[in-house]
Amino acid sequence: MIRSIRDIEVAGKRVFIRCDFNVPLDEFFNITDDRRIRSAIQTIRYCLDNGCSIIVASHLGRPKGVFEEKYSLDPVFKRLTRILNCEVKFASDVVGNDAKQKVESLQSGEVLLLENLRFEKGEIKNDENLAKELSEYADVYINDAFGVCHRAHASVEAITKFFDESTSAAGFLLQKEVEFSKNLLKAPARPFVAVVGGSKVSGKLKALINLLPRIDKLIIGGGMAFTFLKAQGLDIGNSLVEDDLLDEALKVIAEAKRLGVKFYLPVDVVAAQTCSQDTTIKFVTTQEIPNGWMGLDIGPATSRLFREALNDAQTILWNGPMGVFELEKFAKGSHKISHAISEAHATTVIGGGDTADVVARAGDADEMTFISTGGGASLELLEGKELPGVKPLNSKDIDS
Ligand code: AMP
Repeated sequence: MIRSIRDIEVAGKRVFIRCDFNVPLDEFFNITDDRRIRSAIQTIRYCLDNGCSIIVASHLGRPKGVFEEKYSLDPVFKRLTRILNCEVKFASDVVGNDAKQKVESLQSGEVLLLENLRFEKGEIKNDENLAKELSEYADVYINDAFGVCHRAHASVEAITKFFDESTSAAGFLLQKEVEFSKNLLKAPARPFVAVVGGSKVSGKLKALINLLPRIDKLIIGGGMAFTFLKAQGLDIGNSLVEDDLLDEALKVIAEAKRLGVKFYLPVDVVAAQTCSQDTTIKFVTTQEIPNGWMGLDIGPATSRLFREALNDAQTILWNGPMGVFELEKFAKGSHKISHAISEAHATTVIGGGDTADVVARAGDADEMTFISTGGGASLELLEGKELPGVKPLNSKDIDS
């Protein structure tokens, strides 16, 4: 079981909180979605209420190990100040003079945000020297950055070597994410239906294989469905396909059959010749995709079919959109599935950034039981992997 911040003594201490503030920005550096910042507030407030001095750190985007204005955490600093409604200090570096001086003078009840961790080359290399320097800022290490826990980075993995069981733990967000995923796979109410979509089979193959023995139905949509359809001998025109995975797709279908898992694929699609908003579209069955056309969304018959299959579900896991939802013309299938899932009398779990985005656009976010904040990390949990950021925070005495 993962150690919670509640299990360790934090009162009056210096606490380093690794957050995931990797938020989307527009061309004017405005934050377009601050859910990731809001999700970390519970842990920061808990530390504030316990009289801690709080050092908060995060990455943003993919800078190359040096300062770049466009990756500065300045917009995050401003938003964090507004949300916390108290003064937040901001260091212009990570382990440079400014950060060190500001950490040194940090008082109980104060919050200091460091600059983008990835301005240090050692961060993504899991460098122990950088981790040691960061660890020296604080008495306690808290990881609340679920979205980056599948990465062995200095502030996520190496840093835990400088803390022990009594001085390192998960924040509330990380704890919730990990426990939710584990319980979901361990003892789901049945029927348990997995709805999987998105662009490629390759990214989700391991998750599919790990899910199969645990679920009752598997519904596949999105671009990845075409690899399965082609494997079954259908002509899919110019639709997205991974030819090297046709055999794997057949194996998944055979394994589903062997395990008695009901397996659903699209029966019709929204087809177009180009992937653009102003293109002409046709609704065609998956048996009749014309040459030169590609399937870019599930069709109306498929939406109905999938809704029927979801009808009796008690647990639904959804990862990956049903079509190119970024374009309105191909978003309808994903929205319909979002509505069907939100209306089901089931525990509904949404994983992956794109799927969370679809659910928000469809106006269904409040109706879902749980929306995960991490795409890659939640997928790796579904694959049954132990995440490098989570492993060091598991209590040794209790079965995790
Ligand atoms: P993933 O990152 O693998 O979950 O894939 C998400 C992406 O899949 C989204 O950007 C969608 O636009 C894309 N996608 C979904 N359905 C299709 C499709 N039929 N053809 C091409 N791309 C798709």
